[in-house]
Amino acid sequence: MMPDEPTRWDVIVIGAGPAGMSAALELDRLGLSALVVDSAPLPGGQYFKQSLLRPEVVQSAEGRTLLTEFARAGVRRLMDTQVWGITPERDGFEVAVFRRHDGERRLWSQALIIATGAYDRPVPFPGWDLPGVMMAGGALTMIKHQGVLPGRRVLLCGTGPLQWVLARHLLEGGAQVVGMVDAAPFPWRAIRHMTVLAGQGERLREGLGAWAAILRAGVPVHWGKIILRAEGSAGVERAVIGRPDGTSTQSFAVDTVCLGYGFQPFNHLARMIGCEHHYAAALGGWVPRRDEWCETTIAGVFVAGDAAGIQGKDVALLEGKLAGWGAARRLGADVPHDQVSALRADLRRQAAMARFLYFLFPYPFDRIPYPVEDDTILCRCEEVRVRDVRAVVREGVSTLRMVRMLTRAGMGLCQGRTCADLVCHILAQETGTPVADIAGPRVSPPLFPIPLYGIIEEEDAYVRTED
Ligand SMILES: Cc1cc2nc3c(=O)[nH]c(=O)nc-3n(C[C@H](O)[C@H](O)[C@H](O)COP(=O)(O)OP(=O)(O)OC[C@H]3O[C@@H](n4cnc5c(N)ncnc54)[C@H](O)[C@@H]3O)c2cc1C
Repeated sequence: MMPDEPTRWDVIVIGAGPAGMSAALELDRLGLSALVVDSAPLPGGQYFKQSLLRPEVVQSAEGRTLLTEFARAGVRRLMDTQVWGITPERDGFEVAVFRRHDGERRLWSQALIIATGAYDRPVPFPGWDLPGVMMAGGALTMIKHQGVLPGRRVLLCGTGPLQWVLARHLLEGGAQVVGMVDAAPFPWRAIRHMTVLAGQGERLREGLGAWAAILRAGVPVHWGKIILRAEGSAGVERAVIGRPDGTSTQSFAVDTVCLGYGFQPFNHLARMIGCEHHYAAALGGWVPRRDEWCETTIAGVFVAGDAAGIQGKDVALLEGKLAGWGAARRLGADVPHDQVSALRADLRRQAAMARFLYFLFPYPFDRIPYPVEDDTILCRCEEVRVRDVRAVVREGVSTLRMVRMLTRAGMGLCQGRTCADLVCHILAQETGTPVADIAGPRVSPPLFPIPLYGIIEEEDAYVRTED
């Protein structure tokens, strides 16, 4: 393909995780031309992520089957390729991509399926920017896919079962887990809702296996507590935990703190092109409004999987399929209507499980005020502190956009991916407005920092790097 020549597809699927792969397989079965684009070197997404060094490392037999099916099908894919912008056109969408060592920069499709997953949800506290404080998802990626332990004496702070999974991996890797701190109370409430667990054998096995490892290793679990601060000079050396009101504190000597307060949907591309979003705490933040085919408020744009709300791999697989059918239907293809109601019923069952988990382990800072002190860094890229944001809000600023303009919070390399949600919570707290009523961040291209040669149109100005 020539660098500046748009390449036309029926559907471009962004993301080769469970949702994107299952969408693309359905499109392929229905005879549509689909291209899957992903910034990772191999398909699989977060759950079925493959390691370049150890390609056999996939989460489960289910993952291996899906990846084999995906490899055998005729779906075209463009890996190692970031989508950094989308422009809606009269009859389709132009998709701007950046791929190191390659000249292909513009693609075009009639419909889009955005299956870009999620990312770790940060929580600021004094010392959260010290080396050695990291997100649980990042730590899991290091262990499972790079074979590297994030530290030796590790404290886990957050909420929910992903912490258990991480604890198990750390223990198996030889790390000492000095404690697991969960913001939620012990999940006694689960007993009254056991029926949700029917048909969830795989998840139960995974959860119970992790618990058994935690109990065997004698890891102390601190329910109803959060991390209050991390201390150290060149890196974290101590972590202090306690109740959200600052009482019942305990201090631990550590070299690593992993934060597992859940994920946020990564739907910035859908926001960039103007799909309507709303705030849903139980789904992890801003999520797109969608119809029963996963189609957004912009015709031809579908969002599936964690990008549409944090509900896990099983929902992602089912939603991908539904979005594939939805996109095919939008382009006039026949979809297997006889299977749609069974799929939707399955989806409702899996979504109920996700809701159940949120009921047991909600994101704590939707309910309690951020325990952040004024001096805490909020925007790490631009080094904006909590006090800077509070100061402009106390002067009358009430929108995220104005906070951004006046303080530079969210204007750095990550473009607010890390701090926008945090700023909204501070705005909500200071103004007494529900977070859901604060307009979410606007997203503009480029979505990621990319070299100028990835944007400049003239071929002469294009620096081609040899592989
Ligand atoms: C870091 C992390 C670790 C996790 N670990 C676990 C775990 O151990 N156990 C568990 O049960 N669940 C885990 N989860 C949750 C689980 O992986 C997800 O629920 C599931 O993978 C969702 O599938 P998905 O297809 O919606 O998204 P994903 O699997 O996240 O796939 C999204 C894909 O989109 C690609 N992408 C995103 N943006 C772009 C872009 N602009 N251009 C090109 N490509 C893009 C990404 O590279 C990724 O491959 C983890 C999630 C994260 C974020």
